[in-house]
Amino acid sequence: MSETNILDGVFERVTHVSKVFKDRDVLRHDYVPGKLPHREDQIRQLGETIAPVLRGARSSNIIIYGKTGTGKTAVVKYVLNHLEAKAKEFSAPIRFCYVNCRIVGSEYRIFASLCQNVGVAVPFTGLSTGEVFDRFQTGLDSSKTTLIIVLDEVDALIKARGDILLYELTRINESLSRSKVSLIGISNDLRLKELLDPRVLSSLSEEEMVFRPYDANELRHILSERSSISFHECTLSESALNLCSALAAAEHGDARRALDLLRVAGEVAERQGVAVVVEDHVREAEKHIEHNRVFEALKNLTFHSKLVILSVYTLSKAEIQKAITGEIYEVYSEICGEVGIVPLTQRRLGSLVNELDSMGLLNAKVTSMGRYGRTKRIKLEIARGLIKDVFANDGRLGRLVDYVPNCLSKCANNPH
Ligand code: ADP
Ligand code: MG
Repeated sequence: MSETNILDGVFERVTHVSKVFKDRDVLRHDYVPGKLPHREDQIRQLGETIAPVLRGARSSNIIIYGKTGTGKTAVVKYVLNHLEAKAKEFSAPIRFCYVNCRIVGSEYRIFASLCQNVGVAVPFTGLSTGEVFDRFQTGLDSSKTTLIIVLDEVDALIKARGDILLYELTRINESLSRSKVSLIGISNDLRLKELLDPRVLSSLSEEEMVFRPYDANELRHILSERSSISFHECTLSESALNLCSALAAAEHGDARRALDLLRVAGEVAERQGVAVVVEDHVREAEKHIEHNRVFEALKNLTFHSKLVILSVYTLSKAEIQKAITGEIYEVYSEICGEVGIVPLTQRRLGSLVNELDSMGLLNAKVTSMGRYGRTKRIKLEIARGLIKDVFANDGRLGRLVDYVPNCLSKCANNPH
């Protein structure tokens, strides 16, 4: 087939009228639905907390905790959209600024987007963070407004860079005379408290909300509402919907996961040219999503962690499925020599192994050796083929996929 023909097929699939989807965009992560079932209490509580801004008062700062996919971002955007409409109706001087701290990344860029929000231009780089903050403060004060700042995924910023940004923002009202700031912090990590200075914490958590995970029934309800606007009628079987909900509930009650399963299952059915999504499509979707997750995770590992994975991979190819740390270290050291870098210590390798275990890429199990004490047995938790796919295209690591270290050459020559 010529290349144009291949592309014709690809484009055709995208532009043809879908048999399955009525509106696929409704399944995107950033879509804010018109209704958020099972979050009525949270919507009311957040609404009550920020309502005072409508009469010119500052609302309490609030911090929202909950695992990913529990509806935190959706609820906050939903409430602020409604508040914004009300503010327009009353001509109340209220502004909103939503920042995803994980995506925006640095204090400088967060302050820069706050500046932009109050109409103050700042260059991309070149100023000190303090200077950008001062400009924001001055700009805000002269705008005579109440500004509601949403700091979404603030835990990611704090873990990477500490709590300086929050420290500045929680104190900002002391230096404003004509404007006010209210903060809404959102954290996926329930242990955020441990990372914050007590003064920052007490000021940010004047109010606190926790979003608990959804159960399978709630997820099914959420999915069925969303599928009625995203799928054509009768294209989604009840059993497929139930399976998406059950799988996501078993994960950790993650609505995003449930919606992803639903979307990808629809895409699988569509590629097969069938008009009804059934359980098999959901199972296939689960595999796709997991494959992509692992693929991305492997690609983004640090160099030494990649070498650790390659070492366990190499051992596994030599039929050593459950290796001890010492064996991995031996192979790893040889591979380091091969690429010309200094190996980390065995102790450090041990902590990389633990990290890879918690990411689900390796499995490290402590086993008892009777009176000889205990040892850790480490094996791959993912398919060898996948590791080969990821590393074979990696410039520095590609040739190591077939590398046989000296310490294993004897085993490798053995057909078993
Ligand atoms: P979080 O911010 O807690 O990680 P999100 O608010 O991004 O979670 O929600 C994940 C996805 O699930 C979004 O697409 C959102 O629209 C949807 N969602 C979450 N909760 C509900 C709900 N109660 N009703 C409908 N959709 C929901
Ligand atoms: Mg979110």
